[in-house]
Amino acid sequence: MTEIVTRFAPSPTGFMHIGNLRTALYAWLLARAGNGKFIVRIEDTDQVRLVEGAVDVILQTLRQTGLNYDEGPGIGGPNGPYVQSERKEIYRKYAEELVAKGHAYYCFCTAERLQQLHDESDGVGGYDRHCRNLSADEVATHLANGEPYVIRQKIPLEGVTSYVDEVFGEISMENKEMQDQILLKADGYPTYNFAHVVDDYLMGVTHVVRGSEYLTSTPKYVLLYDAFGWPRPHYVHLPLLMGQNEDGKISKLSKRHGAVSFQDLLQAGYLPQAIVNYIALLGWCPKDCNQEIFTLEELCKIFSIEGISKSPSVFDYGKLNWFNSEYIKQMPEQTCAERIVPLLRQKCPAPGLCLDKLAALLHTRVCTFNEATEMVDFVAERLPLDLAAYTNKKNKTTPELCRQILAEVQPKLAACQDWQNDALFALLKAYAEASGIKAGAVMWAVRIAVARKLVTPGGATELMEVFGKEESLSRIEQALQELGD
Ligand code: GLU
Repeated sequence: MTEIVTRFAPSPTGFMHIGNLRTALYAWLLARAGNGKFIVRIEDTDQVRLVEGAVDVILQTLRQTGLNYDEGPGIGGPNGPYVQSERKEIYRKYAEELVAKGHAYYCFCTAERLQQLHDESDGVGGYDRHCRNLSADEVATHLANGEPYVIRQKIPLEGVTSYVDEVFGEISMENKEMQDQILLKADGYPTYNFAHVVDDYLMGVTHVVRGSEYLTSTPKYVLLYDAFGWPRPHYVHLPLLMGQNEDGKISKLSKRHGAVSFQDLLQAGYLPQAIVNYIALLGWCPKDCNQEIFTLEELCKIFSIEGISKSPSVFDYGKLNWFNSEYIKQMPEQTCAERIVPLLRQKCPAPGLCLDKLAALLHTRVCTFNEATEMVDFVAERLPLDLAAYTNKKNKTTPELCRQILAEVQPKLAACQDWQNDALFALLKAYAEASGIKAGAVMWAVRIAVARKLVTPGGATELMEVFGKEESLSRIEQALQELGD
């Protein structure tokens, strides 16, 4: 069996869209699952659309997600260079070979003529194959005159071209539906349509993994393989990636749905491993297994083309939150604290707060680190409090009862020397037993007084430890004043 060779071939036209990352991941997994090779190639032949810094973003994303490559920019390899703009002469040679074989031709049509054709057909007619049958002499004359030209693919006028996609099955297209597409542009650069075919062949790519937007242009590409006499690669087109609109309908995943680039998701507080784990399942699912949390190594072992789905996948931010919270929970407490404490310090700069303790409380409760800062508004400031918060059905509390509890525990807390959760808990518990008031009611009164918020990460005594003795007692004093006599 030949070795599996896959590639990721991004165009450096901007940020790293989640769809591109998924393509890279699936191509990587397919190679790794088969002990094959994974190549990275930068497709920068559309010089107009290049964005500075985009290549760095792509390579950095691959590093951050652990998608290591065997050949590509920065590391080289036997099939380099791996940046298409550095391979210009290769494409010219192959384009000319196709002309010689009768599968491509020189086209000298001017931009004005093409524009006129376009306008006359309301933009749907395409190229009229005007130069397809120029004689060798005519071509030579145009070339001798130094006229600019492109090289076009000579698509057969009749018949049908078919190929079998590993995910979508047989795809067929009538040859008469296809345009004589440009292979080599007037500026000497190849088009994507041509360059990727030549490169995939020369680099020994066995499986072309990419988005399904290329599904219907692939017949033109297989015609190129056939024309050169090269074996066709396997095609693995991935399902569309969609987002859910406000009205519940779905459309192609875009910024209107939320963060759609890997960098934006990192900014929003998601962990690279959680993002990778989630998108691995966005269009693929393991056979006979309900597991959802996978390391890359585990994915490599079980990834297979059969698990890739045809139907569009909808990016679900709620699900990503779930994955992220699971990854945060799995982190050692110390690592998590290192990430959360600096964020907390920015939001809650007051001295005396035990932010390590607060981070520990948030560890199992947040979906993203950014969310942690949203959850600690009550630590950063004393929030306005409606006295109705002291009424709690389950614990049978009323503002009056809470006032009594607070007044009675205040001196005990003031005398407490060991301001830690366990000791504080024991103190309040002992008070509850001695006074005959339910422990739940005591905890409620104290937590509301100290936190001034109904829902908080952590209970009364944990939060008192976070606030420290002085601030906790001061908040209880304020609560007593608000509750009145
Ligand atoms: N450069 C193309 C893109 O970024 C690659 C498509 C392919 O993988 O063939 O869409």
